[in-house]
Amino acid sequence: MMQEQQLPIALATVAARHSRQAHVVWGQRDVTVGGGAPVRVQSMTNTDTADAIGTAIQVKELAVAGSEMVRITVNTPEAAQAVPYIRDQLDRMGFDVPLIGDFHYNGHRLLTDFPDCAQALSKYRINPGNVGKGDKRDRQFGQMIEAAMRWSKPVRIGVNWGSLDQELLAQLMDDNSRRLEPWSAKSVMYEALVRSAIDSAVRAEQMGLDGNQIILSCKVSGVQDLVSVYRALALRCDYALHLGLTEAGMGTKGTVASATALSILLQEGIGDTIRVSLTPAPGESRTQEVVIASEILQSLGVRAFVPSVTACPGCGRTTSTTFQELTQQIDEFLRAQMPVWRSRYPGVEKLKVAVMGCIVNGPGESKHADIGISLPGTGEAPAAPVFIDGEKRMTLRGDAIAQEFQAVVENYIENRFGTRSGMPST
Ligand code: SF4
Repeated sequence: MMQEQQLPIALATVAARHSRQAHVVWGQRDVTVGGGAPVRVQSMTNTDTADAIGTAIQVKELAVAGSEMVRITVNTPEAAQAVPYIRDQLDRMGFDVPLIGDFHYNGHRLLTDFPDCAQALSKYRINPGNVGKGDKRDRQFGQMIEAAMRWSKPVRIGVNWGSLDQELLAQLMDDNSRRLEPWSAKSVMYEALVRSAIDSAVRAEQMGLDGNQIILSCKVSGVQDLVSVYRALALRCDYALHLGLTEAGMGTKGTVASATALSILLQEGIGDTIRVSLTPAPGESRTQEVVIASEILQSLGVRAFVPSVTACPGCGRTTSTTFQELTQQIDEFLRAQMPVWRSRYPGVEKLKVAVMGCIVNGPGESKHADIGISLPGTGEAPAAPVFIDGEKRMTLRGDAIAQEFQAVVENYIENRFGTRSGMPST
C-alpha cells in the first residue's frame, strides 16, 4: 500500500471571534465583555430581591465562587427600592462585583421611577418579548434604552424562546407562508429569535446607544437549537454575546446539556460571557452554576480558575476506597485554598495534579501532570511513587500517604508560585 505523505495532526484550538467590547463597571471594577477579553462567568440569584440582606449574602457567595457579574430580578417597586441597599451592603463587605438588573414587563417604569436603582446597577437586561405590545412596545423599550444612556450603562438584549415576541413571530410566519418553498416552523422560530435580538439592538443604536454597550443573547433550552441559533447570531452581528442554555434542568441532565451546548459554541469562538441555568436541588447551593460554568471554560482550556486534578475512574484494580478518598481530599483541599492562594500564588490555577489508581496508567499520567501520585492497585506493593515535573522524586508508604502527599503539593506550590520572583509570598 502506498504511504501517503504524513502531516502533523493539527492542534485543536478555540476559534477567535472579533466582537465589540462592552464594559460592565462598578467602582474600580471594569468587567470587559467581548473584544478579546476573557470569557466571563456570570450567575443569577434566586432570592427575593426585596430581601436586601438575603440577596446581598447570596450575591457575595456567588462572587466568592467566581461569578464575575451577578444578575438579580428587579420585578417590583420593593425590589427596585432594595437594589441600592444591596449594592451598599456589598460595597461595605468589600465586594465590587457588578450587579445586573433583570427586567420584564415594567422595567421602563422601574428604571424611571427609581433612579437610585438605575444608578446602582451596572447593566440592564431587557427582554424584547416582554417590553409591551403594539404601540407600547417601542415606547417602553425606548424608555429603557434612554435610562441606559442617561446612566451610561450597557444593556443585554436577551431574547428567550419562552417569551419570544409573538407579533414578530406571527409576521415571519405570514411571510413564510408566501414563500414558494416555505421554511420549517423551527427555522422560522430561529429566525424570529435572531431578528428580535438584532432588530432591537439596531433600534437601540438608532436611539443613540453606543453599539459597544450592547450585548445580545437568544436563549433556548435544546442543545441543537442553541447551536443553530447562536451560529446564525454570531454570523449576522458583531455584538458581544451572552451564551447560555436556558432552563437547562437539574443535576446531571442540566450540567451535561449546558456543557455540551456551550462547549460546541465556545470552541467555535462564540460566546463572550456564559451562564449555566441550573435548577438547584432543594437545599443545594446556588453556587453550583458558577462552579460548572468555570469548569466548562477550564476544561476547554479557555481559562483557568482552580488547579485541576486528573484522576482515573478506578476499576477492578482499585478494590479499596483509598484512591477515591485521596482524589476527593486533594480536590477539596485545592478548591478550599483558592480564595487565599489566588493572590498569594499567582498562576497556581494552572497547576495540574494527577491522582492515579494503579501502575497501568499511573506513572505515565502522573508524568504529564506537574505533580502526580500513582497509588498501589490491588495486589501491588504498598508503595506510591510521586512524580514532580515529570520525574519520580519519592515513594510514599504507610497509613499517612494522603497527608504526606498534601504536604508535598503545598511545598511544590510554595516553591513554584510563591517565591518565583524572589518576593516574599505573604
Ligand atoms: S490506572 Fe489502573 S486503576 Fe486506574 S483505571 Fe487504569 S487500570 Fe484501573
